Amino acid sequence: MRPPPAFVPLALVAIAPVALSAQRPDSLAADVRQYVAVDTAVVALTHVLLVDGTGAAPKPDQTIVIRDGRIAEVGPAASVQVPGGARAMDLSGSTVIPGLVGMHDHLFYTAAGGRAVQMSYTGPRLYLGSGVTTIRTTGSRAPYAEINLKDQIDRGLTPGPRIHLTAPYITGPQGGGSMAVLSSPEAARRFVAYWASEGATWIKAYTDIRRAELGAAIAEAHKRGLKVTGHLCSVSFQEAVALGIDNLEHGMLTSSDFDPTKQPDVCPVTLLGRLNQSDPRGDVAQATIRTLVQHRVSMTSTLAVYEPFVAHRPTKDARVLQAMAPEVRASYTRIRDEIDSTGHGPVTQQGLQSAMAFEKAFVEGGGLLAAGVDPTGIGGALAGFGDQRNYELFIEAGFTPAQAVRIMTANGARILGVDNRLGTVERGKLADLVLLHGDLVAEPSVIRNVTLVFKDGVGYDSAKLIGSVQGRVGVN
Ligand SMILES: [Zn+2]
Repeated sequence: MRPPPAFVPLALVAIAPVALSAQRPDSLAADVRQYVAVDTAVVALTHVLLVDGTGAAPKPDQTIVIRDGRIAEVGPAASVQVPGGARAMDLSGSTVIPGLVGMHDHLFYTAAGGRAVQMSYTGPRLYLGSGVTTIRTTGSRAPYAEINLKDQIDRGLTPGPRIHLTAPYITGPQGGGSMAVLSSPEAARRFVAYWASEGATWIKAYTDIRRAELGAAIAEAHKRGLKVTGHLCSVSFQEAVALGIDNLEHGMLTSSDFDPTKQPDVCPVTLLGRLNQSDPRGDVAQATIRTLVQHRVSMTSTLAVYEPFVAHRPTKDARVLQAMAPEVRASYTRIRDEIDSTGHGPVTQQGLQSAMAFEKAFVEGGGLLAAGVDPTGIGGALAGFGDQRNYELFIEAGFTPAQAVRIMTANGARILGVDNRLGTVERGKLADLVLLHGDLVAEPSVIRNVTLVFKDGVGYDSAKLIGSVQGRVGVN
């Protein structure tokens, strides 16, 4: 990591929390404290329905005791004693899940018409307010804005989730824009070495990367303890696995394994059209899934960013529209209306259902699936809200509530290598918890009813965080 800026008082540096140690309320700045609703050292959440992230069946009437930022006790309300001096909250009728681990949670936002904006203000508030307590940035357009934001959050100066930094995107000579274009393996090694020294823990490869550069980047990353993921196309999933990649983004909709006309190192232009018609349980799908599982390569689901491309889907969540800047809202609504009126979006209903079925088959085949929002596309998947939407889409895909919660929490923590500290509601873990009003098992949309979000045992007021970004998504 970079050293803290010179103007930081030494005392503040001395108490700056080490990554993954609990952040205490007395180290939080006023800008953060204004969003804090619960800051007592010992808190008991009593009589909750618990979906604990391990994949275990939901447990009714549980009590969770938080002490000094960690989960001190969890079990049936009848047997767990509320410690003297604890702030006891009777939460009958509420559900508790672990803090969400957003594995494709960029700190920038892009929408149709070329809009692209770094969301250093709205992003961390939307994520935390929606229950996302850990994010992997999964590709950066403004790396120093993200390095500095992580530093601010870690020091308690800005509210937001824990951040796992990803370097700028790497791609091949056909790519460009804000990405690093790598034209030799040597350039790939140089790139990885530099960003490792700047604090990145992940590298993200994009659609035009070639095998030689991807392989070199992976080897250099592994030498330095970094991991590599990709939104691929020119390199197929199975080729990337052979090169040693750790994680693959988006599932079936970016898997060029399904295109029999594909040339080596070239991204076929026909890919999406083909995927709309491919069989998610056919031979290619099975071979791809088998290869990933055998080599323990995980996959990130981002269903929420694809849904707005599909006609006749519920894509006008009032909360999303209110959070958007007026101009962004107008443009998004116009594009959605066009898709609905023609009945044809870039992704077909069949394509979305195939993507869901492929992810289901991957998990059934023993694959490690995580999830993230990917706040891009035509702009309808917002930070945090889109992570929540993923939960509803997982239920639609046929996962149980316990499976869906595990995908969105413990599995991400495992891929990030922090599962010994967080990702489940278990004794000794950091107290990253989301309180939902209602019964999540009975009604998937309860995932939207976030009331309090605990990070390091500090309870943040979701409504205040979300309220602070109204009309600002697409601005900052
Ligand atoms: Zn992305």
